Amino acid sequence: MTVPLLDLNAQYLPLRTALLDAVTRVCDSQRFIGGPEVEGLEREVAAYLGTPHALGMSSGTDALVAALMALNIGPGDEVITPTYSFFATAGSVVRVGAKPVLVDSDADTFNLNPAATAAAITSKTKAIIPVHLFGQSADLEPILAAASPRGIPVIEDAAQAIGCMYRGKAVGSWGAVGCFSFFPSKNLGGFGDGGLVTSTNADLAHRLKLIRNHGMEPKYYHHMVGANFRLDALQAAVLRVKLPYLAKWSAARRNNAMRYRAAFASAGLSEVVLPVEAPDRTHIYNQFVIRVPDRDRLRAHLDAAGIGCEVYYPVPFHLQECFAGLGYKAGAFPIAEAAALDSLALPIYPELTEAQQGAVVEAIARFYRG
Ligand SMILES: *Cc1c(COP(=O)(O)O)cnc(C)c1O
Repeated sequence: MTVPLLDLNAQYLPLRTALLDAVTRVCDSQRFIGGPEVEGLEREVAAYLGTPHALGMSSGTDALVAALMALNIGPGDEVITPTYSFFATAGSVVRVGAKPVLVDSDADTFNLNPAATAAAITSKTKAIIPVHLFGQSADLEPILAAASPRGIPVIEDAAQAIGCMYRGKAVGSWGAVGCFSFFPSKNLGGFGDGGLVTSTNADLAHRLKLIRNHGMEPKYYHHMVGANFRLDALQAAVLRVKLPYLAKWSAARRNNAMRYRAAFASAGLSEVVLPVEAPDRTHIYNQFVIRVPDRDRLRAHLDAAGIGCEVYYPVPFHLQECFAGLGYKAGAFPIAEAAALDSLALPIYPELTEAQQGAVVEAIARFYRG
């Protein structure tokens, strides 16, 4: 049995008619920019997350850039980010001319280490970007406790974590701005690129709305230099069909994670370190990331067996060529460096069957037990 890392058709086919109807609705309206579909999605996501303001954006990356712009962050400023995340988290900081100050992860959850974050704060720190990596919230409370008294805004990179809860409240509504992605492989994926920002602050939400559309209000009067960060109506219409299923899909991912735990336990595979769930937050498993010895050979073995897997992420930011100018050396962040060497994501998408999961675990058992 072969098992893909992700099977988007398994989600698409049961919803095909409703999705194509939504696309047809937009085509028939010929309203492709803004309008009722985008506004409808914004209302519905705001209600789903329990946050007052949600604004569609052209991508998760642009959501981060817009958040930094809305907070007036630029040259001379420092922004603290984890060294272990998807590139956009630190890339967006460089895009606005600021300097990423990198911090190591927690060994168990892969998320930003709060003590190291507090220690990295300087007089130039203008924002902190915790990432809710793989679908589990970062430990926000101590990060906010370090940031808030100093007036440092927290931008949550929630690209992998829409609907994930921290202490009973959705991520994206804890910090100044929450940034989400609708990239097709995220828990809520569009038919192309898309993103969203949330904020509990009305003034900040208004700035984000202006920045999304060239700082323009009304038409052709520009308060500031923004960009074209708009979400397409076609994407919004597709996402509105999918949003009512998101809670069910995330629950299915959690259920698949439980089944993996049971299957790995009964296989007695002590080599495999399973993802750690912190007690005060939900994990919605955008990725199910195990830690294993001899990872690269296991990966080749799974590829050959037709089992999809992926390494998120093989190179932490401080060892990326484009960030050499930041001056970090190998060894600077040992937890992230270890994770880059031994982490491996397994298939976890909602429609994955128990038999497929059995095949994944069996293939891993064959590698370690022969
Ligand atoms: C996917 C992702 C982004 C970027 O989102 P795009 O929509 O692909 O631009 C940012 N941060 C993290 C952690 C992500 O996983």
